Amino acid sequence: MNLTFHAEVLSLKAVFRVAKSAKEYAENFFIEIEQDGITGWGEAAPSKFYHEDKQTVPLAIEKMRQFLNGDPDFIHTIQESIDKNLNGNYAARAAVNMALYDWIGKKLNLPVWKYLGINPFEKNLFSSYTISIDSLGRLEEKIEKARDFPFLKVKLGTTDDYEIIKCIRRLTDKVIWVDANEGWERAEALEKIKWLESENVAFVEQPLVVADLAGMHWLKAQVNMPLLADESVKTSQDIPKLLGAFDGINIKLMKCGGITEALTMIRLARAYGLQIMLGCFIESSLGISAAAQLAPLCDYIDLDGHLFLQQDPYLGGAIQNGRIMLSEQSGFGVTIKS
Ligand code: MG
Repeated sequence: MNLTFHAEVLSLKAVFRVAKSAKEYAENFFIEIEQDGITGWGEAAPSKFYHEDKQTVPLAIEKMRQFLNGDPDFIHTIQESIDKNLNGNYAARAAVNMALYDWIGKKLNLPVWKYLGINPFEKNLFSSYTISIDSLGRLEEKIEKARDFPFLKVKLGTTDDYEIIKCIRRLTDKVIWVDANEGWERAEALEKIKWLESENVAFVEQPLVVADLAGMHWLKAQVNMPLLADESVKTSQDIPKLLGAFDGINIKLMKCGGITEALTMIRLARAYGLQIMLGCFIESSLGISAAAQLAPLCDYIDLDGHLFLQQDPYLGGAIQNGRIMLSEQSGFGVTIKS
């Protein structure tokens, strides 16, 4: 297999602010794996929060190169070698895993969802649209941008949390998903979640810091609202310890290392009766379309990362006007924007 990759700075349309950080651009990596004249594509969106950046990704990709010497068809054998020999570096690993799946789909002339035996016609699937933290005055404009989306994912964890929700409720009665991004203390979380229970909020994501797992047990025992883990869960290995503390998990390819591990997480979460959200980082349509292949297996879809880019280098076929529409195109159904 021939593996090549390059980095690209992807500017955002506006600053993307959450409880503890803000982003003006993403520096993502795009990889190509070629064999027999077929090229599979993958993307890595490294995040400093998960100890990855523009220095670590190329090093990890170079380390994986030695395992890409067999037939890409045998993705599980390749993945096992990578998993045995690399720690962390999940976004870099996701890029390679993604490219292998895209290659197999293109070789078999099948979309990846069909290769995986996933039925995309069973239910209507819609993504949420994220309302990042901003001045209250800009909320109306953001709600307008979300007009095609039935769910609003609202970032909280600020001193204005009540005002943000009240302001949104004056503008729309759409279902809200709240993401506190570890932004609350225990008592504050309890008070805010009790109030949110009467505001047509479906669930709250990551109310407390990762380290306060005891706090999550305490909180979950006192609220009716489903609580979903995001920062608290990277791979399937994290899932057992979350039982009793969370009602569900947010799976992201960039946190877990790709489609292979995401499928393991989905099976494990289902075995434990956990709800499943499928999320993303700031990614192009390539990463988003790769994740979307798994959308029919999940309960909540939050695949809007590409919508915040000034210029998306790829055209994805997976999401149209907020709706997940998996295409019949082979691989991830993605093309390069000319
Ligand atoms: Mg989150």
